[in-house]
Amino acid sequence: GFKCGIVGLPNVGKSTLFNALTRTAAAQAANYPFCTIEPNTGEVAVPDTRLKKLAEIAGSKEIIPTRIAFVDIAGLVRGASKGEGLGNKFLANIREVDAIVHVLRCFEDDDITHVEGRIDPVGDADTIETELMISDLESLERRTEQTRKRAAAKDKESLTVLPMMEAALKLLQDGKPVRTMLKTLADEDLKILHGLNLLTSHPVLYVCNVSEADAATGNAHTEAVAKMAAEQGAESIVVSAAIESEVAQLPDEESEEFLAALGLEEAGLDRLIRAGYSLLDLITYFTVGPKETRAWTIERGTKAPGAAGVIHTDFERGFIRAFTIAYDDYVNLGGEVPAKEAGKARDEGKEYVVQDGDVIHFRFNT
Ligand code: GDP
Repeated sequence: GFKCGIVGLPNVGKSTLFNALTRTAAAQAANYPFCTIEPNTGEVAVPDTRLKKLAEIAGSKEIIPTRIAFVDIAGLVRGASKGEGLGNKFLANIREVDAIVHVLRCFEDDDITHVEGRIDPVGDADTIETELMISDLESLERRTEQTRKRAAAKDKESLTVLPMMEAALKLLQDGKPVRTMLKTLADEDLKILHGLNLLTSHPVLYVCNVSEADAATGNAHTEAVAKMAAEQGAESIVVSAAIESEVAQLPDEESEEFLAALGLEEAGLDRLIRAGYSLLDLITYFTVGPKETRAWTIERGTKAPGAAGVIHTDFERGFIRAFTIAYDDYVNLGGEVPAKEAGKARDEGKEYVVQDGDVIHFRFNT
């Protein structure tokens, strides 16, 4: 499955947010650094209003959302790349995730210690980024050196990866995270980069953790983060971990009222989950029938057989056709039969690239 790693300095609200996300007490929130020692992984349902509409039209008995995982990664401090705090253990955990959710403290509270003694989310982001870049730089310098030698001896594998290594190394030497080149890369290069297992090559979402009073409006700190994110071509969102942990304990009807009273339209967690999902460049297709309406996750660009394989490997192996209706057609025309009559149902083959929102019936050989 796909994983977002939640990182940040100690006491910024990571565990509070993670607990709210998974509605468990697994990652215990406490007012001291290094509370979350083992990485905790939680799977969450991806909220998607399209599910309900499809289920209504098809008269499905059940709705099954798709899921993504969040990992609460133990606290990083200044000096982690040199083994401070949980040091290398933390760094190893980051290698396992596909994207990073970076929580930044944007709330003032004298009772909650800030490890650096001041509220400065942009400075905090820089502290963490620096640790990750130092770690990448050191490991890459070592590996590039070896790879250069092997490439000089005409080693094929080394010749293939060396250009990406050199490009990543150049960025790090210029003080830039490797992810700044992600958008310029072709698929093969992305694959090579992925194989290098770097810490700063993951896409990042900044999450500004604010007090309840600032949840609807943000504050000067969140504005500074938004500006920084924009400069990096990254996204930022404003969430109050304190509010989210309360909302997570309420039944759905009550949580809407509670949020409305605070001037919020939607739970911050729903925004966070969706932002994480798009950060991973994931899209959703649906299977719809009287029994259930279900959402399935694929990477953007996946072809029909690969999409079928998410349901079952047999579906991929025996793939014949994908009977496909776009979500808008399905909903606007009122279901499968009218969509078919209007000529909006397509019989797609092996080369079809599945689109977000496609409603699909797969035909396959067993
Ligand atoms: P972590 O070390 O980043 O995982 O931080 P925790 O989630 O354990 O939070 C550290 C402390 O800050 C806990 O006592 C939380 O209750 C508190 N905290 C978290 N979010 C907020 C917030 O939005 N406002 C205030 N005032 N306290 C918060």
